[in-house]
Amino acid sequence: MSFEGLLDQDHAKKFLMGYLRTGRIPNAFLFCGPKGVGKKTAARLLAKALNCQKEGEGIDSCGQCPSCVAMDRDRHPDWRCFAPERGSLTLGIDQIRTLKSAVSLKSSWGGYKVVVVLEAERMTQEAANALLKTLEEPPHKTVIILTASARDGLERTIVSRCQHVGFELVKHETIRSVLIHQCHVPEDKAELWAYLSCGSLGRALEEAGGQGFQLRAVSLDCLMKVLIGEESPVFLAESVASLASQIQDELKQESGEEVKRIKEIHKEVETGTIQEWIEARYQAKYRQWLERLMDSFVTWFRDAVIYSYSGGESLLMNRDHGEELSRICDRVNREDLIQLCETAILMRERLGANVQLRFLLERIFLDMSRSVHHA
Ligand SMILES: [Zn+2]
Repeated sequence: MSFEGLLDQDHAKKFLMGYLRTGRIPNAFLFCGPKGVGKKTAARLLAKALNCQKEGEGIDSCGQCPSCVAMDRDRHPDWRCFAPERGSLTLGIDQIRTLKSAVSLKSSWGGYKVVVVLEAERMTQEAANALLKTLEEPPHKTVIILTASARDGLERTIVSRCQHVGFELVKHETIRSVLIHQCHVPEDKAELWAYLSCGSLGRALEEAGGQGFQLRAVSLDCLMKVLIGEESPVFLAESVASLASQIQDELKQESGEEVKRIKEIHKEVETGTIQEWIEARYQAKYRQWLERLMDSFVTWFRDAVIYSYSGGESLLMNRDHGEELSRICDRVNREDLIQLCETAILMRERLGANVQLRFLLERIFLDMSRSVHHA
């Protein structure tokens, strides 16, 4: 893939290609923008173009030289990617130390060393301080790219050392087209999923390859039950929490099986290391499941608020469920819906603080139950 493959993001593309054209490459970049819009892809494309070995014309990567091929296979020795440890919320000092030792070495292939720190706003204070030192005295022919959702979460001293590149939400039409043509999602579903992914192509691709926004049904079912008072909020919260632990068990089992499979092929590798690595991957999957679930509550309340103003489906994300949203609006005041939306957002944030899912859901369901007026 070359820069052409980075969908939308015309501003970022123009900016980065401008640097490639002049050959004056800053030591550090900060790629800012929402999740799933192409920041990591852009970092990879920049690294690929910087190290492309083709001769002559053109500033973009050729896709055929040994360096480009190695980048495409994620095996380039001068390209490293750092992210919050799987299953963990922060990016710690150990990772930054590894980064520092990686950039202190000479480039293996004589080109640029490119390192990326994903979700840099999650660096611990200690890690940020350590990185700042490297940014202040960058090693020769090294490019450090930080990605973040917003500048605010980062130390000002770090931000001021980086060239800022902004990334935008991906257009609805672009996401829809990728879903139809690359993922072979039927047109009507693609249209809906493009709305549900809210400009995040990454999210759309993930759902297309996995659950296809199925968690919406779980959360809507809960809200409808609270609405008609069919089940007690506390009991509902408990049953969703037990669904979550069932998912967790399934993932644990899958992870155990994967460890076994790998051990059969690579007998020489230490079991502890593989186990740790694979378990972390499955923990991250579970975490993502929880986040998606909480996200879906937020989107239902958000849609209910919009519906209460517009009475129509055109501005909704869950536009295939106008009828249920209309029922919610009949029984819950707009002010209460706004409050519920805020509560759901707050509860989603608490998920990060490792509060038990059951308590977070209890709060949402109890608040909603109190807001429902009975005819
Ligand atoms: Zn090349």
